[in-house]
Amino acid sequence: MSFSELGLAPELLRAVEAAGYHTPSPIQAKAIPACLEGRDVLAAAQTGTGKTAGFTLPILQRLSRQPVDGRRPVRALILTPTRELAAQVHDSVEKYGAALSPRLESDVVYGGVKINPQINRLREGVDILVACPGRLLDLVSQKAVRLDQVETLVLDEADRMLDMGFIHDIRKILKLVPQQRQTLLFSATFSSEIRQLADKLLHEPVSIDVAPRNTAAETVEQSVYKVDKPSKTALLVHLIRQQQLEQALVFTATKHMANRVTKNLQKAGITAAAIHGNKSQNARTSALNGFKSGEVRILVATDVAARGIDIAHLPHVINFELPNVPADYVHRIGRTGRAGASGSAMSLVAPDERDQLKGIERLIGKPVPVHESEDFDARAVQEELTSAGGQTEDPGPPGQQRKNRPGGGQRRQRAGDQGGRQQGNRSQGNSEQPRREGERPARRRRRGGRGRSGGGNHASSGNS
Ligand code: AMP
Repeated sequence: MSFSELGLAPELLRAVEAAGYHTPSPIQAKAIPACLEGRDVLAAAQTGTGKTAGFTLPILQRLSRQPVDGRRPVRALILTPTRELAAQVHDSVEKYGAALSPRLESDVVYGGVKINPQINRLREGVDILVACPGRLLDLVSQKAVRLDQVETLVLDEADRMLDMGFIHDIRKILKLVPQQRQTLLFSATFSSEIRQLADKLLHEPVSIDVAPRNTAAETVEQSVYKVDKPSKTALLVHLIRQQQLEQALVFTATKHMANRVTKNLQKAGITAAAIHGNKSQNARTSALNGFKSGEVRILVATDVAARGIDIAHLPHVINFELPNVPADYVHRIGRTGRAGASGSAMSLVAPDERDQLKGIERLIGKPVPVHESEDFDARAVQEELTSAGGQTEDPGPPGQQRKNRPGGGQRRQRAGDQGGRQQGNRSQGNSEQPRREGERPARRRRRGGRGRSGGGNHASSGNS
């Protein structure tokens, strides 16, 4: 099948060719004709499947065929859970729509940056708006934008939006868009919540399920390195050096750990940057750009921040900590092995992460092979880092910190052999697994009534 068989306009076919795409991906082959017909779509698709072009190309085509005179109302609204994904989807809209005549105007809005420039841009009118829900509602409340002429609404990564607690914002937005519209819902996983949302929102949708759900790309070589928690940093440094990893995306469960791992890698002389919800938008953008340009060798990310990151040919993903939600494992390793390319996904698994590993294996329907006998000198690496300043282990929250770290019991370790010291009480205390990044802290939640008009604008998730 070729793109020209999908009913796309010549300008869009040229854009697709310029992007270097020769054949439509399976989701594009199904979604593009359905969207062009104006049908609602319910698609099970992970990042990396080409879903973005699957909905942006038909939106561009439909809107360009009905140009509007005068000030442009928002006619297509694309909601995404994170700023990075929003920026990326907007880039795609601009890229694919560059040759359209007359031109369509598009914009992207999210929190964490000044609102006034966004207000000014929106006042000039846009046809296609990509937005994170929190900031969009701020802009609506400031009368910078109206949504009553939206013809197509896209919920991208809907499962993640619900995970991040955006359901209330989504409900509010649904009241602002016309009942009569086209709705496209993309989700990597299908919980009963997503199904309920889909049942409510979609009218006789075309269902598309391109990859078997919850399975990892076959082209990604997965492996588990069993290791004591205190030796994880040393093993990470060892793997990066020994395998001469040119670049890798490293996942941690918390923002705190992302910072710590980044600092330790820097001490080991490895260029690293962290990306998570506590970082300013500028810091996130510069970390991501540094990684994309190759200046930064290791990008350390939490799950929420990593959503939507699209880096061509990313060969390695390392799970410094396993995610608490098994589906996140599939998302994480989906960052590599894209479009059939090969990739590797290594997971450093401590004894107290065994249940998480079991959950992941149940989800993907197969065991993850254990990499036997990685002989490395944990102590030597730790000493190296210590002499570069500071400690290599996570001390945990104040009050639970142990003295004399890094501990004396560490020696040459064979990953896979966890015969060493068990984590005992500290790991039972779950000190390294506080709330997931998208969740709001309980205290804030109780104060919830303050809302975004008080300046809250979902800063707790750091992504809207
Ligand atoms: P997405 O799943 O939309 O994030 O896209 C993942 C990556 O696949 C992006 O880098 C796209 O540029 C790329 N891509 C999208 N469609 C195609 C295609 N038909 N052929 C090759 N690469 C594609």
